[in-house]
Amino acid sequence: MLFSLSRMTPQILYVDRAQVGSSPLTVIISGVFILLILLVSFYFLGKDKKLYQIMIDESMAGVYAITNGKLAFANKRVAEIFGYTAEEMNGLEIAQLFLPSDQMKVVNNIQKLTSKNASIIHDEYQCVRKDGSIITVEINGVVTKYNGEPAIMGTANDVTLKKNITSVINFYDPITKLPNQKLFNHLVTEHIENTNEPMSLVFIQLNRIADIQGSYGFEIGDKLVNHVIEHVQGLIKNNDLVTRYGETKLIVFLFNAGKSDGRRFAENVLALFKKPYHFENYYVMETVNIGISTYPELMTIEKLSEYAHIALHASLEDGPNQIRIFDDSLHQKMLEQASIESDLSHAFENNELIIYYQPKLDLLTGKISGLEALLRWNHPIKGIISPGVFIPIAEKNGLIIPLTNWVFRTISKCLEEMPEDISIAMNISPLHFLQPDFIKNVESLVELTGVDPKRMEIEITENHAINYEMAIKKLERLKELGFKISLDDFGSGYSSLGQVNRLPLDKLKIDQSFLRHQFSDPANRTVISSVIAMGHSLKYTVVAEGVETVDQLIFLQKHACDEVQGFLISRPLPADELLAKWDDIEKVGNY
Ligand code: C2E
Ligand code: CA
Ligand code: CA
Repeated sequence: MLFSLSRMTPQILYVDRAQVGSSPLTVIISGVFILLILLVSFYFLGKDKKLYQIMIDESMAGVYAITNGKLAFANKRVAEIFGYTAEEMNGLEIAQLFLPSDQMKVVNNIQKLTSKNASIIHDEYQCVRKDGSIITVEINGVVTKYNGEPAIMGTANDVTLKKNITSVINFYDPITKLPNQKLFNHLVTEHIENTNEPMSLVFIQLNRIADIQGSYGFEIGDKLVNHVIEHVQGLIKNNDLVTRYGETKLIVFLFNAGKSDGRRFAENVLALFKKPYHFENYYVMETVNIGISTYPELMTIEKLSEYAHIALHASLEDGPNQIRIFDDSLHQKMLEQASIESDLSHAFENNELIIYYQPKLDLLTGKISGLEALLRWNHPIKGIISPGVFIPIAEKNGLIIPLTNWVFRTISKCLEEMPEDISIAMNISPLHFLQPDFIKNVESLVELTGVDPKRMEIEITENHAINYEMAIKKLERLKELGFKISLDDFGSGYSSLGQVNRLPLDKLKIDQSFLRHQFSDPANRTVISSVIAMGHSLKYTVVAEGVETVDQLIFLQKHACDEVQGFLISRPLPADELLAKWDDIEKVGNY
């Protein structure tokens, strides 16, 4: 019943609470008031039967009296509430009027009254009408006498409609006027249970809401979301459903829509954001990502939501304004990630982690100037797993911190076997660097291992630089301790050399993509030489990553790049193999 009401959405949406009914407190007070009048009537009018009868019979409130578990009296209103005639009600066992699940409540309340533990009881019960329908009735009762017999008397009030309307209101978001998650899930479930037609659940994430709130305030952020909702509602069919999910997401349920309909809808949503998004007097650069799951392949709203969420995350990996539909390949990936995640927690104990070291060559001397520590995981079944696979998982589940601590300790030991002028660089994940106790963590590792920080480099990526004030403070402390700082993957992110210049860095590592993409076309090579020149103008040591060919090496030498790293010089190797090949590796610098 509730949900057939909820389908009539808009009219009920705007019902004013004041119209819906009074607050529980006023209901209790008015109930008690009626009861008082009733008792006073008995007292004063007890002898004037006729007047008393008329007053009680015509009362808008239901009035009843119970003796010996049976109705001794019920006025017209009570009979109306329960669907009987007043005559039929007379002598009715009261147990017949309550749902079995509520009968204990009735018994307990009567006991409280008769044992004088309460002078009045006010409660709500699920009751059964003559036609079998279930209603909610609010009942007051006091102990008194009726026709000389001990009795319970009171008033009864049908609150079924009020309860339903209140519930409907509780099922809608007061700001957006959309069904809330609870109702949305219920309606989707109801639909799934009753049909086999295809359906799509679409998660839409508005990526820049936090930035927009930061620049224009929360109110504007909210208005933007509401504006987008209106737009999205213009793209769906009448009975499709939209709900807001948290601050930044919308969920849309498309009835009778398979994968291709879902994609078409998602493309229409993307099209809204091709140009700066305009609402009121604002133009904002918003981007969206969309994940879709489909029924009947998936069975429950929980699964549909989980898979649409996974698809959304996969689309985020592809960059802004992308759509992903949950399919077998994503399912496989999800299972794979879950198995990696569970195995990774045992990798430590089982000694499955190893560090490979990749040398960097100093182009001026032709000698190895330092090494970069690169993690590998030797999985007992899957073999060597690359850090590109397990580092993001470790970042998600927090294992990255013990993992990095382990890398630090292992590097410290390895340095003892390396020539004294050699330093080792370690990669620090942005998530770890952002931890408030990151510096404390490094300080205690230095103390624990006794390593000389001058023989270590910390590689951070441009992501770290988002909060410059915080990043600068942390990096300055690391430098005070003696660490050298490199900015990894330079050029792959957003920051310009101008911004980077604010950070206390020693080295700039030019991202591999520069050599991969710009080197093949001689016209673009100036991009690489310009970055080297700019890095030098800021007094940084410049390192080129991903050097794979002799041509690239010669070009970098010619443009005074300081250090090179890449497969041409050496692949990352276990420490002992690297030491064995050391002299051969340095021969590469003889070009
Ligand atoms: P990265 O720090 O940019 O490391 C360089 C990556 O490029 C390494 O991949 C290396 O093997 C690869 N590489 C080196 N020279 C060449 C080349 O000439 N050509 C090509 N195609 N690739 C080359 P790897 O070892 O798979 O590591 C991937 C990423 O995983 C690293 O990128 C780093 O961001 C992360 N990583 C590795 N070890 C750790 C670690 O201990 N902690 C953290 N937080 N991240 C790590
Ligand atoms: Ca690195
Ligand atoms: Ca890199």
